[in-house]
Amino acid sequence: MRRVLIVGASIAGPALAWWLHRYSFEVTVVERAPALRQGGYKIDIRGAALDVVERMGLKDRLTGLETDMRFMSFVNSAGRRLVDVRADLFMGRGEADLEVMRGDLSQLLYDETRATVDYRFGDTIVELDPATGAVSFEHAEPETFDLVIGADGLHSTVRRLAFGGDVVHDLDHLVAIATVPNHLELDRWELIYSVPGRTVNLYSTGRSADAKVLFLFGADQKYAGRELEILNTTFRGAGWETDRLLDAVAVSDDFYFDTVSQVHLDRYAVDRVGLVGDAAYCPSFASGQGTSLALVGAYVLAGELSRSEPAHAFATYEQLMRPYVERNLKLGRDNLGRMISKSPLQSWVGAMVLRVLPKLPMKDALVAKMTQPIHDAARAIELPVYS
Ligand SMILES: Cc1cc2nc3c(=O)[nH]c(=O)nc-3n(C[C@H](O)[C@H](O)[C@H](O)COP(=O)(O)OP(=O)(O)OC[C@H]3O[C@@H](n4cnc5c(N)ncnc54)[C@H](O)[C@@H]3O)c2cc1C
Repeated sequence: MRRVLIVGASIAGPALAWWLHRYSFEVTVVERAPALRQGGYKIDIRGAALDVVERMGLKDRLTGLETDMRFMSFVNSAGRRLVDVRADLFMGRGEADLEVMRGDLSQLLYDETRATVDYRFGDTIVELDPATGAVSFEHAEPETFDLVIGADGLHSTVRRLAFGGDVVHDLDHLVAIATVPNHLELDRWELIYSVPGRTVNLYSTGRSADAKVLFLFGADQKYAGRELEILNTTFRGAGWETDRLLDAVAVSDDFYFDTVSQVHLDRYAVDRVGLVGDAAYCPSFASGQGTSLALVGAYVLAGELSRSEPAHAFATYEQLMRPYVERNLKLGRDNLGRMISKSPLQSWVGAMVLRVLPKLPMKDALVAKMTQPIHDAARAIELPVYS
């Protein structure tokens, strides 16, 4: 059982490829996009995932890529800063946690594997027989692999072909992210503009760097092909810098748009086919834990495959991951309610809490209590040591 096809080259795919190569598997990665996808917002690497990047020897490199965000400010429709909050306080970031750009992490994992892994961009699978590992591609000739692993994200094709069923649970929100000019000259500073049901975040990691904008809003999920139209209908005229940002998004070259959804699967593998990362257990963008789950999942899946035959390895992988996954799925559902206000009163109360919090004598204890669920979820797995 040595030839493995991984579908998807974002975070879970290259991370799994890294570990499988280390265990002497022969790895091919097929990615639908014509090149490695850049872009995305900043992402956190926390808890058990920190141990994984440490074991990969990548922690120092990632520390060098940290965003070093300093402050977050809530702004009103005229752009006045209502409250400034230290970024680590707002994000519930523990001292050891790493915050990097998603694109930087993906690039690092790709750079670490490109010499030893056969990457095929601009192709995808169209047919898959889980019993034999036979795969048909959109462009390349059919091939048979010992194992096929879906690392192809929330809307996984591997999952659809091998598992079927409707396992994506929409949380009734949409998220759009793009790189835009840093016209406000933000320097490691994030601005948050919130009106009921809609939030716009804008930040930059440096005055001379581009900025990233994120739009989060409640909506029904039928958006295919109408992404920019929906964004414009929802945000145009909403105040602050939104119109200017919408114009910039329309010409951005890394526009990312998706539902805020979770994947609830009752098993992570069938026959010769397994799933890792968002394809298996997407906790949603709102959890802030999708990348950590992908890194940990890749580590555990590869480690178990190095130890035993696939059926047993897949079963142990699921057994180890499931409690950790469930904790993080719950975190995602709970967080979404806090990220987007339902009324002007909720926005005001949230801003006031953040304004007074840093002045309270017991602020550290209060912050620790508020952020404990994040850290508990991030550590809710005992990582085996694989040789
Ligand atoms: C461009 C981009 C921007 C993102 N931005 C953010 C963000 O700002 N914040 C956040 O929390 N999360 C973001 N995400 C999602 C985040 O990367 C994941 O939640 C998490 O890191 C888990 O990663 P993953 O590798 O399992 O899935 P994903 O990151 O979703 O990667 C899946 C990969 O599979 C590829 N793929 C999909 N279908 C096929 C197919 N049929 N054949 C071949 N390849 C396929 C995709 O192109 C992609 O490269 C983003 C993802 C992408 C791709």
